[in-house]
Amino acid sequence: MNSSMIGKIEKAHRYAREPERIQFNSLDATFRGGHDEYHVKLNNGHWECSCHTFSSHVVGTCSHVMAMQQILSPMLLEHDRYGEEEPVAATG
Ligand SMILES: [Zn+2]
Repeated sequence: MNSSMIGKIEKAHRYAREPERIQFNSLDATFRGGHDEYHVKLNNGHWECSCHTFSSHVVGTCSHVMAMQQILSPMLLEHDRYGEEEPVAATG
């Protein structure tokens, strides 16, 4: 392996510890939930999930989208971290 490749690998290791350098523009993932697999997508700032909770539009999000937002938080735009609705203050 030549020295320039070694330098690139070292840089990759450094970058891998700085996830905020990366910003997802779109995303398409399969989420293995407790009972079923769901299809979670982020496109142009809009989250989508194939689960019942999300498609019912009652809360505007679901546990799968929220989990993705937590995992990817440093790599998402502010807007994409929480969705478009203001988070409702939780009681308790
Ligand atoms: Zn879901």
